[in-house]
Amino acid sequence: MTGIVVLGSTNMDLVAYAARAPKLGETVTGREFRTVPGGKGANQAVAAARAGGEVAMIGAVGEDEFGERLRHTLEASGVDTDLLRTVEGPSGTAHIVVDDEGSNAIVVVPGANGTVTHLVPGDETVIAAADTLLLQLELPLSAVRAGAGAARRHGVRTVLTPAPAQPLPPDLLAAVDLLVPNEHEAATLTGIADAHGAAESLLRQVPEVVITLGAAGSLYAARGGRALAVPAPRVEAVDTTAAGDTFVGALAVALGEGRPMPEAMRWASAAAALCVQRPGASTSMPYRTEIEA
Ligand code: ADP
Repeated sequence: MTGIVVLGSTNMDLVAYAARAPKLGETVTGREFRTVPGGKGANQAVAAARAGGEVAMIGAVGEDEFGERLRHTLEASGVDTDLLRTVEGPSGTAHIVVDDEGSNAIVVVPGANGTVTHLVPGDETVIAAADTLLLQLELPLSAVRAGAGAARRHGVRTVLTPAPAQPLPPDLLAAVDLLVPNEHEAATLTGIADAHGAAESLLRQVPEVVITLGAAGSLYAARGGRALAVPAPRVEAVDTTAAGDTFVGALAVALGEGRPMPEAMRWASAAAALCVQRPGASTSMPYRTEIEA
């Protein structure tokens, strides 16, 4: 039995570092180039597996070298990839320019992720046997809805990271147990900049919300309960890429072990704080022994 199933994206991040991003029609010379395995789905899967979860990934990679590397990256962290299909055409890619200020411009090409429009036989069986289903919004919405529906039918806890932020259909929200936006996503979804206000508004649609607030920590709110703010450990952040995905992956593991929400959030905060102190995305995610320490 697999505790955590991730239905989500895999992307190869193609990152060019340059003094400044080119304007349209312009060419600039960059300083450095890196390929970094990512995608919110794969990042959450790696984070959860490293945090000690039994994790399976449902999604797709392309028939190219990136696909092989994306699959290998998941497997190297212990993620079960039996339900990760290899499809014709390219893998998902994110084309990123990072300038000297650390600002970035990104073109995401979904590639293989775009072929995941529905569940295939076998997916629902694995979801049904799981404790938690992790969803994000980098796959076609039809697949996200199908996953949430399957989880609901089998009483599996559904955790949705609403990124990239977009209006969410009510039937999807109705199947979500826990929504975990960052503060920007929460503001986009509700039109309310203040996290407490946004959480209150989101509770009209889902029973539980955790809003992540970067260095300011995270805020939990549940219907009929009192809000709970959990501070983030004070650390020197060098790269906050995938901090949110690390938080969600670790949170799912802790909740799956039956830990109460405050404790699970503190544990997830420790994992995310370790992630931001190291450069990289999935490569910077901590293992369970490090989180415990
Ligand atoms: P995202 O990565 O989705 O933008 P956040 O920036 O809110 O999400 O970060 C997610 C979590 O990562 C935070 O709730 C916090 O626990 C941790 N985190 C992020 N930035 C820092 C930081 N500078 N110092 C400590 N923890 C951080």
